[in-house]
Amino acid sequence: MYVACPKCDWRPEPVHRWECTCGYVWNTFETGGVCPVCACRWEETLCPECGCWSDHEDWYHFPYDLTVAEYLANPSLIKHWPAA
Ligand SMILES: [Zn+2]
Ligand SMILES: [Zn+2]
Repeated sequence: MYVACPKCDWRPEPVHRWECTCGYVWNTFETGGVCPVCACRWEETLCPECGCWSDHEDWYHFPYDLTVAEYLANPSLIKHWPAA
């Protein structure tokens, strides 16, 4: 399981941040695209590398048939991304 831009295959790291319209800045992939402050759900995520918006779920690439909910319940499934 890894996270990558579906358009350019850019791989975000835990240090990367996205900004919500409420002003909060966080790593959107830690929460499945949901802002932890205002609970706004971001259906699409902007790639800072290619500048394209893609469906948030399209960023998750699963070697097995895991859903995003299953991944969020077990974030260690991302190999290069240590569980917080
Ligand atoms: Zn917000
Ligand atoms: Zn991209």
